[in-house]
Amino acid sequence: MMKNRGMEPEDKQPYLRALPAVDEFLRHSQIQAHLKKYSKELVVGSIRRIMEQKRQAILNSANLQEAASIGVAWEELLAAVKEEITKTARPSLRRVINATGVVLHTNLGRAPLAPEALQYIEEIAGGYSNLEFDLTSGERGSRHEHVEKILRLITGAESALVVNNNAGAVFLALNSLAEGKEVIVSRGQLVEIGGSFRIPDVMKKSGAQLVEVGTTNRTHLEDYERAINERTALLLKVHTSNFRVLGFTAEVSLKDLVALGQANGLPVLEDLGSGCFVDLSPYGIAKEPTVQEALETGVDVITFSGDKLLGGPQAGIILGQKKYLDLIKKNPLNRALRIDKLTLAGLESTLRVYWNHEQAAERIPVLNMITCPVEKLERRVKRLQRQLTRDLASSCQVKIREEISPVGGGALPLQGLPTRVIALRPLKTSVASLEERLRKSDPPVIARVQEGEILLDLRTVAESEEKELLENLRQALQ
Ligand SMILES: *Cc1c(COP(=O)(O)O)cnc(C)c1O
Repeated sequence: MMKNRGMEPEDKQPYLRALPAVDEFLRHSQIQAHLKKYSKELVVGSIRRIMEQKRQAILNSANLQEAASIGVAWEELLAAVKEEITKTARPSLRRVINATGVVLHTNLGRAPLAPEALQYIEEIAGGYSNLEFDLTSGERGSRHEHVEKILRLITGAESALVVNNNAGAVFLALNSLAEGKEVIVSRGQLVEIGGSFRIPDVMKKSGAQLVEVGTTNRTHLEDYERAINERTALLLKVHTSNFRVLGFTAEVSLKDLVALGQANGLPVLEDLGSGCFVDLSPYGIAKEPTVQEALETGVDVITFSGDKLLGGPQAGIILGQKKYLDLIKKNPLNRALRIDKLTLAGLESTLRVYWNHEQAAERIPVLNMITCPVEKLERRVKRLQRQLTRDLASSCQVKIREEISPVGGGALPLQGLPTRVIALRPLKTSVASLEERLRKSDPPVIARVQEGEILLDLRTVAESEEKELLENLRQALQ
């Protein structure tokens, strides 16, 4: 809408007419230089957007004086067009420095991959591969074989399948094993993960019928037992991976649920969420059952993410008994949820790191960050504090604080990892503006804001990123 506050738009016509036409831009040597680098669509589109902004600014100006002050000189217009071109051509998906300390940050891409996985993806994706070709027989092969065998050998599972993500894995398993039938779940496990993944909704879409048993805080074996009837197809257990009910609670163990399933000839499916292959309790992290331990209970099928505690690419891993996995593999939806070769290359190479568990804790980035001793973080933080104090003492207060890094990503709820952070209190600007400048720096730095301070947790910052972090802080505080 045009706001011309008592002024006729015609008054502004001379200002509008003074704006150069697109053709005039295209004849300018600077624009011709852009056209050597970028497509005509990009350049012309950028010119049009800038000119539209100017036009609107003139039309919305309160009076002629204000209209006259809107910059329409060539240098100004050319600079604005150049900036618009750069902004438009810049990638949308960008590397960021995660200084939040949240290891599995869902919004920041969850698990960074191990160097060997990156190298392998480059090798496989940059050329041709035996993706669906059997090198022994010279015939057509299956893409799933590349990770099935190693998953079986590492975990002891009878059969394995990998799909696009764990939400897809749960959906596919429910649809394959219980379409048109009933699935019994504890009320305490009807979770929502990240807004769009809710167990009741996924269940409905899969065609299975949800039967809730027990209460929010307490569910007993008899609750499941009483709900079993001739329409029951499956008993489901969902890992409550992003919250915990405390106090007067009771949950049926996977072992007891498996025994109940066996007694009634019903399969048991567990959605583990963030399945981990390595016991992290020696590193001071609360004991969670590993994938291998879950399988030892005799559970029929389990699902978990490839990019949570496993530390690989986004994937949904399904392990379990061959007779159920065969049903899942035969489901036509499997084709719709299949993983691509980049994921396969990243996953297979990540899995190969697990041939040696101690090395896995060292070489898989998420495990390395989770198990990083606080003394090491303290040394890094002290070094950064010295550099910041030396360079920026006049613009910022720099303190070290004891804090907690959340693991995040729906993994290890309530598990905090003791850490040391840099706490910045800018002296010449606001915390909000410093946070924004860091977020808009290159590469963007994402930090935590807490009680009037910017907190930088180096747990999730690679040592190779420290120099960039320091430089971006310097610029943001100038
Ligand atoms: C994270 C999670 C999911 C979804 O996994 P994605 O890999 O994000 O699709 C499903 N169930 C549980 C319990 C989870 O923690």
